[in-house]
Amino acid sequence: MSSTSMRTHQCGELRAEHIGQTVALTGWVGRRREHGEKLAFVDVRDHTGITQCVVDNDVDVRSEYVVRITGVVRARPEGTVNSTLPTGEVEVGECHVEVLRSAVAPPFPIDARTDDVDENLRLKHRYLDLRRERMQKNLRVRAAVNGAIRAAMERQDFVEVETPMLVPSTPEGAREFLVPSRKEPGSFYALPQSPQLFKQLLMVGGVDRYYQIARCLRDEDLRADRQYEFMQLDMEMSFVTQDDVLDAVSEAVLDAAEAIAGDRPPAIEHITWHDAMNRFGIDKPDLRFGMELVELTDAFVATEFKAFAGAESIKGIRVPARADEFGRNQLDKLTDKAKSIGAKGLVWMKVSADGIDSPVAKFLSEDELAEVGSRLEAEPGDLLLIVADEWMTTCEVLGTLRNDLGRPPVHEGPLKFVWVVEFPLFVGVDKETGHPKPGHHPFTTPHPDDVDKMISDPMSVRSIAYDLVLNGWELGSGSIRIHEPELQRRVFKVLGISDEEAARKFGFFLNPFDYGAPPHGGFGLGLDRLVAILAGEENIREVIAFPKTQSGADPMTNSPIEGDPKQLLELGLRVLPRVD
Ligand code: ASP
Repeated sequence: MSSTSMRTHQCGELRAEHIGQTVALTGWVGRRREHGEKLAFVDVRDHTGITQCVVDNDVDVRSEYVVRITGVVRARPEGTVNSTLPTGEVEVGECHVEVLRSAVAPPFPIDARTDDVDENLRLKHRYLDLRRERMQKNLRVRAAVNGAIRAAMERQDFVEVETPMLVPSTPEGAREFLVPSRKEPGSFYALPQSPQLFKQLLMVGGVDRYYQIARCLRDEDLRADRQYEFMQLDMEMSFVTQDDVLDAVSEAVLDAAEAIAGDRPPAIEHITWHDAMNRFGIDKPDLRFGMELVELTDAFVATEFKAFAGAESIKGIRVPARADEFGRNQLDKLTDKAKSIGAKGLVWMKVSADGIDSPVAKFLSEDELAEVGSRLEAEPGDLLLIVADEWMTTCEVLGTLRNDLGRPPVHEGPLKFVWVVEFPLFVGVDKETGHPKPGHHPFTTPHPDDVDKMISDPMSVRSIAYDLVLNGWELGSGSIRIHEPELQRRVFKVLGISDEEAARKFGFFLNPFDYGAPPHGGFGLGLDRLVAILAGEENIREVIAFPKTQSGADPMTNSPIEGDPKQLLELGLRVLPRVD
């Protein structure tokens, strides 16, 4: 707690040991209650808490007035001690109140009740919203996380280097914000979707270990866990393998978690992408709960049930003790959800002491039903959900249902970090060109054991790319980069990028590698998401001082606003009518 020339203590600081001291407090007026004819109780508040002050009734202070109150600390009269308040044993009496600034009535009360206030109103008056305990706590969690991460990176010999905000477009896949050049009308910079290009060139430049708490900008639709601009622990290392990168990042996030939660989470487990999909149906598994996907394909090799016969993959999940919750309507909804993700259908079974109740039970043999029950370790009262489809679809559908039905709220349970490694090098096929698309970015190293399959079976090639996941949230990604031109050429070839196109598009980035690029790799860790989870918030807007709304607007500054015609002219821009 910090005194200044205007105050001796902060509002959350006074205790019984201060009784008898003359103090000066500064802050905002919270609640005011009349106390008899002559006196009033006034709560004075700052980010550390509130103190009750007893003032003359004729002192004109109202909600949110900024005040300096001097007085003497005394014990509260018996029976009026407030044990829920850290300062609840004392009050300040014989008060002299200076109004430093009067205030108009706030549009919402500045206390916990504000949690129900419409978010737009909160964001319109964010400076008031920030006065609340929850927001003050969140900003401080954020600062502590940044501090712990910085300290961990410095301790590990990483050098903080700042990279530019006005950059060329980079091939990382996100839509970018463009900034028009006034000197060269018609030309544009992009705002960096990450410092990727520069951090790799820092490795060519011999920096060896780089980090930055970097602002990244991506023009993508906003969600609870996504803003246009976000902060990232961005890092890159030379002469390393994957484990070196994972260890360095683990150290930083575990320090951050320990700084906030008090306990250090255990060493972070690794799981391959394939196992994550197979067991949890998703590449960002939430390991706080079970309900793992259980393999059933071989239990139905000889089945007569058409929907299961010949299916590439059959799996099930067990929803423990919840069969009764699911009536016809809810089961139909689950089926619709499964279909919306691409499944042909969803089989449900309710387990009771008498056996299994399911619309498909009559198509399955006794042995098959018994096998399902035993593999899923079914107990009376359980609901079982089964999907038979292509492997990916089966995994994705059950992974979604597992999360929908089992995922705890963000603040519950332990912190479960997991590294997901060996992501596929290519994901899906470009509809226009028919070539595979890069899973991470085109500079990601293929897994050495799979390089030979790049032409014959590209979709099965794994990469040295990894994600860090916490409680089912993807915190970030990274990879070991390609530093040899021959391997880069082979990857470009699979992607359908010719030598000429590569030289034109990526020459400015790759040519410097010819001067001696060391083997290198790195990672980008989304700090907003990490802070949100550590602060127990479901939405990253709650841990950002001045976020945009879901529609990308800032109601406080009214941005974005229309371009000023003079400015547009100077930039050589004309605005066309909007086409959607
Ligand atoms: N540039 C990547 C990202 O922002 C991270 C990395 O590969 O280092 O996701």
